[in-house]
This record gives sequence, C-alpha cells and structure tokens, in this order.
Amino acid sequence: MTSLFISHNLAVVRFISTRVGVMYLGRLVEVAPTEMLFERPQHPYTQLLMDAIPRLEHGRRRVRNASGDVPSPLDPPGGCTFHPRCPLAMERCRSETPLLKAAADGSAVACHAVVPTVHASASAA
Ligand code: SF4
Repeated sequence: MTSLFISHNLAVVRFISTRVGVMYLGRLVEVAPTEMLFERPQHPYTQLLMDAIPRLEHGRRRVRNASGDVPSPLDPPGGCTFHPRCPLAMERCRSETPLLKAAADGSAVACHAVVPTVHASASAA
C-alpha cells in the first residue's frame, strides 16, 4: 500500500515517510529516501528548508534564508522557478528549466548546479 502525505511540517514528514518529494511552485525539485534527504539534501531549496529546522545542538548557528518573496504560481519565473531566490543561480537558470535527474542511489534532483550522486556499487560496474 502506498500513501501520499502532503505537509509543511518537516518533523512529521520525517517521522512517517520512507521517501520524500520536495516541491517548489508546483514542481518536484528533489526526491529521495527520507533519511538521505534530511541528512544530505542536494537541491538549494531543500537545503534552505533543512536550515530552517530548529536544532538544539546547533545553538547559535547561522541560518540561511532564501532572499525575496515566493513568486506567484499563476505567473512563475521562466527557467528554474527558484532562480530569483537561489544563492547558486547562474545565467542558465533564468532560461532553462532543470529536469529531474535520477541517481543510482534512489534520489533525483532538478538543478543545473547539482550532479546526481552515484551509488558506489553502480560506479564500480
Ligand atoms: S537550477 Fe539554478 S536557480 Fe534552480 S535551484 Fe539549481 S542553481 Fe538554483
């Protein structure tokens, strides 16, 4: 049986999920097994979401924030819809929509700046 759970509460998502998909303006930007996503987020938006989770052990750590407001989903920016807020945005991001690229480790990321990770057993073949 498969259940789809949609939430902004990342603690609950982590607790009940085995696989997580992160969406921005209606598009999937990253998909990964739950622990992989929370421990090693790859997409800049996912990384910013993870930075926003309060952690007792980090005390006064510096929290990165996305700049600017979330654009309207009715009139999204061209290219990567996250580019006006992304700290890694480059020229290509303004015109070319990144596709979701799958890696051998079960993750997938839609970002021009991220090369999908390759599972050790897959790279040895
Ligand atoms: S494609 Fe470009 S703007 Fe979009 S998340 Fe990746 S680096 Fe940022």
